[in-house]
Amino acid sequence: MTPHDIPSAARSDVGQRRDHNEDAVFVKMPLLVVADGVGGSAKGEVASRLAIDTFVAAAQDVLVARSGDEAVRAMEHAVLAANAAVHQSQLDDESRRGMATTITAAVVRDGGEVVVGHVGDSRLYVLSAAGARQLTDDHSVVAELVRSGRLDPGDVPTHPQRNVITRALGPEADVSVDAFLAHVGPGDWLLACSDGLTEHVEEHELARIVVEAAPGDPDAAAAQLVDLANERGGTDNITVALAQPVPSDVSGELHVEALHAAAATAAAPTTSMPATTGGADDPVPAEDSGPLPRVAADGDAEPEASDELPAMQPIPHDEDWRDDELDDERDLRAWIVALMVLIVVFAIVALTWSRSYFLVERGDGSVGIDRGFPVAGLSTRHAESDVLADDLDPADRERLVDSHRILSEADAQQVLDDLPTRLDAVDAPAAGQVA
Ligand code: MG
Repeated sequence: MTPHDIPSAARSDVGQRRDHNEDAVFVKMPLLVVADGVGGSAKGEVASRLAIDTFVAAAQDVLVARSGDEAVRAMEHAVLAANAAVHQSQLDDESRRGMATTITAAVVRDGGEVVVGHVGDSRLYVLSAAGARQLTDDHSVVAELVRSGRLDPGDVPTHPQRNVITRALGPEADVSVDAFLAHVGPGDWLLACSDGLTEHVEEHELARIVVEAAPGDPDAAAAQLVDLANERGGTDNITVALAQPVPSDVSGELHVEALHAAAATAAAPTTSMPATTGGADDPVPAEDSGPLPRVAADGDAEPEASDELPAMQPIPHDEDWRDDELDDERDLRAWIVALMVLIVVFAIVALTWSRSYFLVERGDGSVGIDRGFPVAGLSTRHAESDVLADDLDPADRERLVDSHRILSEADAQQVLDDLPTRLDAVDAPAAGQVA
């Protein structure tokens, strides 16, 4: 079996919430890589594309390594080369400051041996009918907390820092790389993916979809995975890379010559997916990436211990998380403003109510003063008098009592006090007429 015969597929989708795709993917067997750019306006898509291009150019050493240990060291070098390229790029270009990316890479060698390189919270799985087995550890705040026993896995989906990663390519000149060997058996599928997939699709679903759909059509399986994540919200860019290194019916053996051929074409990367958005940079040859951090000659590149929190500054990875935070802040501000407006309106109404008085005719015909508004239920009795409304001159009655004109307390009291005088004025001419 040659690498070209290995069933594989890749797909990357912007998702439902983002306006551009910062993920990048490269699949050309025996190599598959996923990178999830961080940075938004700081060119996350440039970081992911630059990392993949640099990694692919440097990955030939992984392909031709004579032993597993040598391959692991070569993998670490390749990932470090990618880190150096991204880091240098942001130093050289101010518009790229703050950009970073995850990277999760697999190089398949003879006999189902898989060399894994990994930084960040993208993931590599082995999928089979038995289920999904995650090969990589997430370099994220919540994953570190779960591994140290300080967070229950069930609380991860609602944790406020669930999308903050603790390691990425780019921010520092050096980075701790998880590089190690794994093995896949006949019929197993390798799945590399960005967190936009695993945010929405459960591990058992990953295995079921791929195992059921992939034998004849891995492209369909990749599409189904992306579609499912989109159906469930598509809150992030969604990227998947699939390959079945060892067919289910034979032991499978990859030929080094063919691996050489694949590496030779890797300098001009192509993917089996629609072109990723952004990242228009030319592939960066490894020799242009600056000096690579050295690995001690006797340094076995064992998987990085992940039981310590990395020193680098945690990076808000998922823009959707930032969007959610901003939405929450906006909602909170809107509620506060609404509450303040409500309080001010209530205060004005209460103040107006407390200073509003009007004359009113009681049920027994007497005239009194009510405090508040001349609407049922919005006033209280304030003062009474013996004057009957019927005894008032009709014009006075209309103007002073029936109109319910709002007055100050003092004015209302003055009008009430003057009413007997007005009765006298009404009575006097009547007496004259009688005489
Ligand atoms: Mg993502």
